[in-house]
Amino acid sequence: MTEACWILAAHVHALETVKTEQAFMNEFGCIYVNRSHSGGRPTFKFRDRKATIAQAIAMPTRGQHTRHLCGDAACVNPNHLIVGTPSENAFDAYEQGALERGARHPKAVDLSSEDAAVIRRDKRPQREIARKWGIAQSTVGQIKRRERRWAEE
Ligand SMILES: [Zn+2]
Repeated sequence: MTEACWILAAHVHALETVKTEQAFMNEFGCIYVNRSHSGGRPTFKFRDRKATIAQAIAMPTRGQHTRHLCGDAACVNPNHLIVGTPSENAFDAYEQGALERGARHPKAVDLSSEDAAVIRRDKRPQREIARKWGIAQSTVGQIKRRERRWAEE
């Protein structure tokens, strides 16, 4: 079996694995499987070779990385996986870290991502919105400019 054949066969096998072994799907469509993981990524063995399911699905070529659009390395939803450059991948990791920091920020503790979505849609002056939610006007501005985001967004 040539390398190209293995990649294609593994791709089909990985898609089948996701379809038949889907253990859980969250509200954002992220799909998880009960498999052994390597670095937080579920793996599978195909014709004596071990690979991560995400890589087999995305099929990155030399120099490309597998990117998770949802920011969750454990997710194997084919619609959340694309290939990209290492720098794009690093940007994803930074974005994800930024999201987690945003959610942990003490002032954001009482607001959910749904609250943030409501605030973004609110066309009233920021001062009024801030008063309504009992938060600082600067916080409203940060939410509207998406400088403050939530992990699940
Ligand atoms: Zn996902």
